[in-house]
Amino acid sequence: KAKQSGRNQACVYEPGMQTEIATQVMLETELREAIALQQFRLHYQVQVDHTGRPFGAEVLLRWHHPQRGLISPLQFIAVAESSGLIIDIGMWVLDQACAQIAVWQGALKTRELSLSVNISARQFSQTNFVSMIKSCIQRHQINPNALRLELTESVLLENVDDAVRIMAELSQLGIQFSLDDFGTGYSSLQYLKKLPLYQLKIDRSFVHDLVTDSHDRTIVRTIIAMAQSMYLSVIAEGVETQAQMELLLNNGCRRYQGFLFGQPMPIEQFNDCLQQVLV
Ligand code: C2E
Ligand code: MG
Ligand code: MG
Ligand code: MG
Repeated sequence: KAKQSGRNQACVYEPGMQTEIATQVMLETELREAIALQQFRLHYQVQVDHTGRPFGAEVLLRWHHPQRGLISPLQFIAVAESSGLIIDIGMWVLDQACAQIAVWQGALKTRELSLSVNISARQFSQTNFVSMIKSCIQRHQINPNALRLELTESVLLENVDDAVRIMAELSQLGIQFSLDDFGTGYSSLQYLKKLPLYQLKIDRSFVHDLVTDSHDRTIVRTIIAMAQSMYLSVIAEGVETQAQMELLLNNGCRRYQGFLFGQPMPIEQFNDCLQQVLV
C-alpha cells in the first residue's frame, strides 16, 4: 500500500517526460502481472438490426486492477502495444471469444450470433497471425462465419499488400472483417476497394451529433453510400438515442451498436438478456 502511494506521488510531482516514462514502465510491469494474475475480463456489447433483434456482439477488454478497479482499454492498450504485451493479451481475448462462440453455436437460440473482436496493429502484423487464428478456430471447433475481426484504417494502411493477403486467407475460411472507427482515418477509395472487407463501422464521433450537425449527417450519408456501392455491410457505433437510430435507418444503415441497445456487460448478464430477447 505504501509502495503504491509512493508511486502515485512520483507521478504527481515529477514534471515532464520522466514522469511519463515512469508511469509507462509502471503500467507495463502491472500489465505483465495482470496476465499472470488473470485480471482481465471481457465485456460484451450487443449489436442489433433495425427491428431491435440482436445478431451479435463486440467483445471489449477490461482490466480489473486490484487497487484501481475497472480500467478501460483506452488507458492501457497503447502501452500493451508498445511493450508487445498485446500479443499475449490479444491471444487470450481471441481464445475466450472463440470459446464463447462455441457455446452459442451449441444452442439453437444463439447459433446464428456473430462476435466481433478488436485486433491491434501489432497483433495483425505478427507473422503467425493467420495460423494463430486458425488454431483457435480448430481448438474450439467453431464455424468461422461467426468470427468478425475489427481492424482500423491505420492498421491496414501500414502495409496494404500484406493486409490484403492476410485478409484473403482468413476470408477463405469464412472469417469476416469490419473496418472499425471508419471515417477517422485516411483511407482512400483506391485502397479500400482492394481490401476483402465485410463491413464498415461508422465511428461514434459522427453518430454523436448526427441530429444537430448537418455536416456529420453528410459524412454519415457518404459512408453509408460508400458501403452500399462496394456491397459492404454497414454498422453504426455509439448509438445512444432513438433519434440517432431513426436518422441512420432513414439513410440506409440497418445495424447498430450503442448504449441505446445495451451497455458492454459481463457474459453472464449478456446471456441472460439474450435469453429474454431471442425466441
Ligand atoms: P472500439 O472498438 O471502437 O469500441 C467501441 C467503444 O465505444 C467501447 O469503448 C465501447 O464501450 C464504447 N461505446 C459503446 N457504445 C457506446 C455509446 O453508445 N456511447 C459511447 N460514448 N461509447 C460507447 P471501450 O470498451 O472503452 O474500448 C475502447 C477501445 O479500446 C475500443 O474501441 C478498441 O479500439 C479498444 N479495445 C477494446 N477491447 C480491445 C481488445 O480486446 N483488443 C484490442 N486490441 N483493442 C481493444
Ligand atoms: Mg471495435
Ligand atoms: Mg469502433
Ligand atoms: Mg471507436
